[in-house]
Amino acid sequence: DNPIQRKPAWIRVKAPNHPVYHETRKLMRDSNLVTVCEEAACPNIGECWSQRHATMMIMGEICTRACAFCNVTTGLPKALDADEPRRVAEAVAKLGLRHVVITSVDRDDLPDGGARHFARVINAIRDASPTTTIEILTPDFMRKDGALEIVVEARPDVFNHNIETVPRLYPTIRPGARYYQSLRLLDGVKRLDPTIFTKSGLMLGLGEERLEVWQVMDDFRIADVDFLTLGQYLQPTPKHAAVADFVTPEAFESYAKTARVKGFLQVSASPLTRSSYHADSDFAQLRAA
Ligand code: SF4
Ligand code: SF4
Repeated sequence: DNPIQRKPAWIRVKAPNHPVYHETRKLMRDSNLVTVCEEAACPNIGECWSQRHATMMIMGEICTRACAFCNVTTGLPKALDADEPRRVAEAVAKLGLRHVVITSVDRDDLPDGGARHFARVINAIRDASPTTTIEILTPDFMRKDGALEIVVEARPDVFNHNIETVPRLYPTIRPGARYYQSLRLLDGVKRLDPTIFTKSGLMLGLGEERLEVWQVMDDFRIADVDFLTLGQYLQPTPKHAAVADFVTPEAFESYAKTARVKGFLQVSASPLTRSSYHADSDFAQLRAA
């Protein structure tokens, strides 16, 4: 048996009960949209949804991968829903978002890994809400030649792809993925279109060493990654990878200082940081700067 570990005081979050939280929830239900906030059992859902910040997850709720940290169901996904781009765009317009984050499951079953669907969603949001900045959080498009070009051509404002953990832990934590594939993807975005901001992040508390995290930061800088997020890994169910340690808020702050020195344009590092947490205010700050 592997019980869920007790969380330290700095991880506790309030139960969601704000009226806007319920409005956001209803809109997602009525529009038949899936959110990573719910699928990943994100601890920030009360706070984010009370501000209408929901991160929609496109291409279904079944993933072709089985990462050891992730709460999303693994299996053979259903066919793509051709009406989804319209519904996502309509929801973004109704929520009145100045910045939206769109993510997806991995679709190794599709010849283009879902790249065209991502592009359709980006284009639909641009049409419905021209002033909303668009951040996408994509799969790695492993062995999907031409997929990255299709997504980059749709010109998202921020291209985010999470590296999740240090290379040594890939075989156990991200068994279907390859560290250098993810790094190459981020590098590829910048080579194709240097005007797109790139972003990536890691979950800490999986057993990584400090020097390994610093090395990943250096790898990111070599690939010209602009934004970095670091958050505490939380075990979604006892079947998932156990938390190796709870990284203290002070240690997160120390990582943040190191990252700023290494030259990232933006760094978000705290126990409850997720790649879409405060993404809108962070991006607005950057634009104003
Ligand atoms: Fe959703 Fe991201 Fe907020 Fe979590 S941090 S609730 S995933 S928007
Ligand atoms: Fe979860 Fe993404 Fe891994 Fe699929 S690829 S299991 S959605 S983290």
